[in-house]
Amino acid sequence: MTPATTHPTTAASEALFERARAVTPGGVNSPVRAFTAVGGTPRFITSASGAWLSDADGNDYVDLICSWGPMLLGHAHPEVQAAVADAVARGTSYGTPTRPEVELAEEIVSRTPVERVRFVSSGTEATMSAIRLARGATGRDLVVKFAGCYHGHVDPLLAEAGSGVATLAVPGTSGVPASSAAETLVLPYNDRAAVQAAFDAHGPRIACLITEATPGNMGIVPPEPGFNAFLAETCRNHGALFISDEVMTGFRATAQGGWGLDGAVEGWVPDLMTFGKVMGGGFPAAAFGGRSDLMAHLAPEGRVYQAGTLSGNPVATTAGLATLRLATDEVYAHLDATARTIREAASEALTAASVPHTVQTAGSMFSVFFSGEPVRDFAGASQQDTTAYAAFFHAMLDQGVYLPPSAYESWFVSAAHDERAVTTVLDALPAAARAAATAGGY
Ligand SMILES: *Cc1c(COP(=O)(O)O)cnc(C)c1O
Repeated sequence: MTPATTHPTTAASEALFERARAVTPGGVNSPVRAFTAVGGTPRFITSASGAWLSDADGNDYVDLICSWGPMLLGHAHPEVQAAVADAVARGTSYGTPTRPEVELAEEIVSRTPVERVRFVSSGTEATMSAIRLARGATGRDLVVKFAGCYHGHVDPLLAEAGSGVATLAVPGTSGVPASSAAETLVLPYNDRAAVQAAFDAHGPRIACLITEATPGNMGIVPPEPGFNAFLAETCRNHGALFISDEVMTGFRATAQGGWGLDGAVEGWVPDLMTFGKVMGGGFPAAAFGGRSDLMAHLAPEGRVYQAGTLSGNPVATTAGLATLRLATDEVYAHLDATARTIREAASEALTAASVPHTVQTAGSMFSVFFSGEPVRDFAGASQQDTTAYAAFFHAMLDQGVYLPPSAYESWFVSAAHDERAVTTVLDALPAAARAAATAGGY
C-alpha cells in the first residue's frame, strides 16, 4: 500500500459524512470520531490490513489508533480471522453457555490477579456492573473517581471524565441526574492529600474508588510511584473496594496490563478489575472480575443482579481468545520497541521545530502532550496547545498517518507495525512538527 501524499482526495468521505450527519447525530456513533477537536472530515474506512487503514477515496494510512487499543496484533490477522470464520460457521449466538467463554475466562484469570470474571459487551457495562457489585457488597453508595479518568458513559462516572468528554470541553454532561452526580466524589489525580481528605470526611459511606490503572484518557498520565498502592491501602483501611479499570491498559500496556507496571512488582491486588478493548479482539466483549468472595455476590450465586443477551457471545469470545493466545512476549517486546522508536522520533521532530511538548508513557502506550511541562493530572493535561496539535494531526494525515483526532488520547501501535509502517510515520514527522510550530506561533 502507498501512503497518501499531500492533500489526498476526500470526496467520498465527505459525501458519506454528509449522509451520516442527516441520519446520526454528528455523523458518528462515538463522538471523538467526528474530528470536532481537529476540524475537517473524518475518513470513512473501508478496509484494514496489518498496520494500515484504507479509506473510501482509496487513500492508505498507517494506523496509530488501532481501534483505540483492541487491534494489538494488527488488522485482519489471519489466525484471528480463521478462528472467527470457524466460529461464525457454527452459528453466532445461542443464549446458552459455550466453551469459548470458559476458555477466555481461564486465559484472563491466568494472566491477571482476578480469580473469577463475568463477561459483558462493552467497557461501559463492565465499570457500571463493577460499581453495582461494589455497592451491593459493601452496602454503601459513594463512588470516588479522578478528574480526567474515563470509565465509559456510566451516569455517576461521567463527572469530569477525560476522552471524548475532555475533547468536547464539556465539564460533565447534561442528562445525568444531580442525585447521581452527588454520589460521586471527583478528586485530582496523583493527589494523595485529596484522597486522604475525602476518605477522612466520608470513609464509612464510600463503596469504592475507581481509577484507570494508568490513566490514558486524558493522554498518558502515569501514577506517581506508589500512588496505586496508596489507593489500595486507603480503600482497605476504610472498608471500601479498590477498582482498577484496565479496559484500555489490560493486555495492552504490558502483558499484565497496567498492573504489570506496579501491582505485580509491589505485591498488591485490586479488589475488582475491568477489562475490554484487547480482550474482544475487535468484537464487543468486555469483563469485570476480582476476588472469588466478591464475585459471589453476583446473580445467580448472590443478590446483585447483572445479565446480558449477548454477554460471552461465542464469536466475540473466540476472537478475544485467539488474540490473547497470540499475544506472546515477543509481541509485547515488538510493541515496546516500536512505541519507543515513534515517540523518540516525534520528540526529536518537535524539538527541532521548537514546539513545546512532553512525551509520557505507560508500557507500550504513550502520548505526546503539546505543553512543555510534565503532566500529572487533568489540570496539567488541559494546558495543551490544541491548535498546534490540530495542525500536527492534519499534516500527519495528509502524509498518510492516522493519529487520534484529539490531543487527549494515547497513540497505539500493533504487532503488525513493521519497518515500512514505522518509516512512513518517521518520514512524516518533521513536516508535521513544522506545521505545529507555525500554527502555535513558536
Ligand atoms: C474505553 C474505555 C472504557 C469504556 O469502554 P467502551 O467499550 O467504550 O464502553 C472504560 N474505561 C476505560 C479506561 C476505557 O479506556
